[in-house]
This record gives sequence, C-alpha cells and structure tokens, in this order.
Amino acid sequence: AHFDFSGRRALVTGAGKGIGREIVALLSACGAQVVAISRDAGDLDSLRGETGCEVIAADLADANAARQAAEQAGPVDLLVNNAGISILQSFLDTTPEAFDQTQAVNVRAAMIVGQVVARGLIGRGAAGAIVNVSSQSSSVGLPNHAAYCASKGALDQLTRVMAVELGPQGIRVNAVNPTVTLTPMGAMAWGDPAKSAPMLARIPLGRFAQPRDVAQAVAYLLSDAAGMVNGVMLPVDGGFLSN
Ligand code: NDP
Repeated sequence: AHFDFSGRRALVTGAGKGIGREIVALLSACGAQVVAISRDAGDLDSLRGETGCEVIAADLADANAARQAAEQAGPVDLLVNNAGISILQSFLDTTPEAFDQTQAVNVRAAMIVGQVVARGLIGRGAAGAIVNVSSQSSSVGLPNHAAYCASKGALDQLTRVMAVELGPQGIRVNAVNPTVTLTPMGAMAWGDPAKSAPMLARIPLGRFAQPRDVAQAVAYLLSDAAGMVNGVMLPVDGGFLSN
C-alpha cells in the first residue's frame, strides 16, 4: 500500500466489478474504511468478504435511489464516482432511452452523490476529495459511443465546476480518464480483435490498462500527495491522448 488512508471513510460507486472493485480493494488495503455502492447483491457480498467494506445495493440510474444510498453511506471524507455504463449504438441508431440511461448513471448520479457528500463535508467543516472516473472518450470521438462520449464529456465539465465551487470549501475534485481497461465493460466494448487492434496500435505504451493502473491514479488524487491538485482530468491511457 503506497498511500495512508487510515481514519478516512471512502465511498465508491459501481464497486461490484472491474475498476470500482479494484479501487475498493486498494483503498481498503491503504487503511480506509470503505462503503461500496453497486447493483448486484452477490458482487457486494463477495466484495465485503474480501475487503471488509460496508455495502449498499442501489440502482444509481434512479435519482432518488442514488440520493438515498449516498445518505445511507453516512459521513465520508473521500468519494469515487466510478459507476458507469456503455450502451453501444451507432450515432444514427442511438435511442433516447439509451442516451438518457447513460446520462443518468454516468453524469447525474455523480452529481447527486457528489452533492450529498459535499454537503456533509461542508456541514462538518471537514476537508475532502472526490474523483470522478471519466474516460479518454471525453475528448475523442469513438465509433458507436455517441451516448457514452457525450456523458464523459459532460462528466469532465461537471468535474471542473465541482472543483471551482467546492475548492474554496477544502474539497478537491478531479477526474481520471482511462483508456480501454481490462474489465467486463472493456471486454464488451473491445473484445473483438477487429476493434481492439487499431485501438491498441494508438497506445504508445502498447497495452490496455489494468484496473490496478486506474485505481492507483485514483488513490493518488484522493491522497494528501495531491494536496494542490484540483480540477484536473488525468489521463491513464499509456499516451493515447498525446497522439
Ligand atoms: P464494469 O461494467 O466492468 O463494472 C461497472 C460496475 O458498476 C459494475 O459493478 C456495475 O454493476 C456497476 N454499475 C453499473 N451501473 C450501475 C448502476 N446504475 N447502479 C449501481 N451500480 C452500477 O465497468 P468498468 O469497471 O470497466 O468501468 C468503471 C468506470 O470506468 C465506468 O465509469 C466506465 O465508464 C469507466 N471506464 C471504463 C473503461 C474500460 O475500458 N473498461 C475505460 C474508461 C473508463 P452491474 O454489474 O450490476 O451492472
């Protein structure tokens, strides 16, 4: 464990699988008391067994459920808005339902949970840190990712406004922007070698990200080592965005 989060309480959304699960494991190993929000009860049970985290089952696409879950988490110092979905459709075939569902989970839930956590911190006069898990797709257009790219562009902008408004209250807000990461979502979107090969060729480090790569960047931004870092979008992309 490279960071010391002992005495800190952390809330992680979308914690059941992939990147969120790895973030819970890393923050727990670094001494944080973690509260995990996700959808699937089986995922949450096994995660609690592995890490000793507290768990809350909720569907963050539902605005009221998102607020209630965040309130149920109690007073937290550190928040990771990681929950996200990707519904692949060509631009011409993108449905309003898929677009709205993607915004609800990827952007609106981050806002709602962020509001609850920030109000709590401000009310207690405590300092805190928030990391939103965005994507390289916030700043490039990927085929079949219209709803997703739009949501991540919006999440970057939400991050900037949160940083500007919450910074004066001692709450730092940043984002990480991973490239293709080897998770269930990554396999769904990029499992076909015809899609993954050209993407891989554009990553100077020559590999996709592991969940651990993303979790380490999140931990840095949450930590006191990033004490003057506020409002940044940190690529975790092996150099993809520098091409
Ligand atoms: P996964 O789909 O592998 O895991 C996402 C987790 O979030 C699952 O446990 C899922 O639960 C949960 N979740 C999804 N929707 C909801 C919801 N409405 N309410 C509560 N929990 C929910 O995704 P990744 O780990 O790959 O992605 C994590 C984040 O990283 C996302 O924001 C994603 O956009 C971002 N990202 C991913 C990249 C990749 O290539 N994988 C690249 C760049 C960014 P369940 O399984 O029950 O649906």
